[in-house]
Amino acid sequence: MRLSKYFMPTMKDNPSDAQIASHRLMIRAGMIRQSASGIYSWLPTGFKVLRKLENIVHEEQVRAGHIPMLMPTLQSADLWRESGRYDDYGKEMLRISDRHGRDMLYGPTNEELITDIFRDNVQSYKDLPMTLYHIQWKFRDEVRPRFGVMRGREFFMKDGYNFDVDKDSALHAYNRHMVSYLRTYERMGMKALPMRADSGPIGGEDTHEFLVLADTGESEVFYDKAILDLHLGDRAVDYDSWDQCAEIAREWTTPYARTDETHDPELFAQIPSERQGQSRGIEVGQIFYFGTKYSDAMNAKVVNDQGREVPVHMGSHGIGVSRMLGAIIEASHDENGIIWPEAVTPFGVGIVNLKQGDDDTDAACEALYKSATLLGLDPLYDDRKERAGAKFSTMELIGLPWRITVGPRGLKNGVVELTCRKTGESEELTAELALEKLA
Ligand code: ATP
Ligand code: MG
Ligand code: MG
Ligand code: MG
Repeated sequence: MRLSKYFMPTMKDNPSDAQIASHRLMIRAGMIRQSASGIYSWLPTGFKVLRKLENIVHEEQVRAGHIPMLMPTLQSADLWRESGRYDDYGKEMLRISDRHGRDMLYGPTNEELITDIFRDNVQSYKDLPMTLYHIQWKFRDEVRPRFGVMRGREFFMKDGYNFDVDKDSALHAYNRHMVSYLRTYERMGMKALPMRADSGPIGGEDTHEFLVLADTGESEVFYDKAILDLHLGDRAVDYDSWDQCAEIAREWTTPYARTDETHDPELFAQIPSERQGQSRGIEVGQIFYFGTKYSDAMNAKVVNDQGREVPVHMGSHGIGVSRMLGAIIEASHDENGIIWPEAVTPFGVGIVNLKQGDDDTDAACEALYKSATLLGLDPLYDDRKERAGAKFSTMELIGLPWRITVGPRGLKNGVVELTCRKTGESEELTAELALEKLA
């Protein structure tokens, strides 16, 4: 992409209404624009990162054997009356009526809708286990929308629902989700810790939240620092294996890690003091096992292998895809701007032309831009007629992991400059070598 032809309305100054770094930086980098309180337009750069996160979530869900689909944003109130949640959900639910006076709502989550789809189409244990998910916009009329996309009213969420014939099988689904979530966050370049949590309005028996540690997080968390050393890495996972998923889940849930809702000071005190961690965290996902709560209320049954009708065991699982952008930036930025992890960066490399309009420099940049594009590096070429300083600030702000700087002085010696955004380190080398390093 050529910056002169792109739409990335960056800002020099901090917006006055943004209280935390990720919110400020997303606005300043021209990624989002508020259209109403807690409701945002995703400008091209923001949209690009959102799509990358969405893709990672899809890939990891499909890898775990879960089936993608898409449900609508608007739902009929009747289903929610069946489960009893139409009244329970309270003011967070955006209620709408259509021209015929029918009660509708903008879905804050989808347990009812998916249970309705399931009960009408699946009758036998032979079709189980089954996990369906979608990635769709949600609306919750938050009392205090704030921190940009971190606590929006409209937000993008992956939500999945498992259907199993008994508790044992549903626990496998629970553990399988835990493992696939760990993998998802790691691929995004993030550490998100599973913590025992409270089930809130979803209800249920077992639940973990995934938290990214950050000073600006809204939750208070307590953990054994041993959990910070755990990595899934590229170990092979057989998602069909009950034992393997349970073993990995056990590994991550053995060290103490809880949110303030479930915190137990006595247990915490038993951890050696140098390993006691207490900080703030951002909730980027949550998994629930809630048994037959919805299937009982909505009469979702299957015939088991003894020919008996039993209520299906369920759980639900969510990842805050749009919130994730904020969480990543909270975890990865400096005073000059964002520092994108390679896996989710909007562009792979920035090309800065120090002397736009100079024939030789322009030609060298064009050639570099072409080669980088062919190599799939997805370059952003700053070809604007701007001062070098302004170009550097823009690159620092938008935080691409690599920058190649091209100027007449270097070209005389046959070199360009390759700079790493994270370390700030630069080296001079030929354009070919620079590309080779990035490819
Ligand atoms: P919170 O405690 O932050 O209000 P929640 O527990 O109500 O979140 P869940 O029902 O668990 O949210 O939804 C799954 C995920 O969706 C959350 O873990 C979070 O990452 C994301 N999410 C929830 N509410 C919002 C919101 N208002 N804006 C952006 N993302 C959200
Ligand atoms: Mg909430
Ligand atoms: Mg919560
Ligand atoms: Mg939650």
